[in-house]
Amino acid sequence: MPTYTHRCPACGEFEQVRPMADSGTAVRCPGCGAAASRVFGAPALRGGDPAMRRALDASAASADAPAVVSSVPGRSRRATPVTRDPRHQALPRP
Ligand SMILES: [Zn+2]
Repeated sequence: MPTYTHRCPACGEFEQVRPMADSGTAVRCPGCGAAASRVFGAPALRGGDPAMRRALDASAASADAPAVVSSVPGRSRRATPVTRDPRHQALPRP
């Protein structure tokens, strides 16, 4: 379940773990019982999948200081494999 942050006018901010289905319902302050408003913040993206974290870090780094490359990234220097089987000549071409 996600954690929602709410703000009480008298007591300040507090967090509450609630089902997403209840995210739009009214919340009362646990301290004084007054109506509290929801505070929207940035999503917590840092604790997840390590591959996702590396991708986000690489994306942020490339936005600030893009890497200088000397060739087109992602292309290998190996040539496309060529078949020597004569039956492959009869296959349809794109
Ligand atoms: Zn309160």
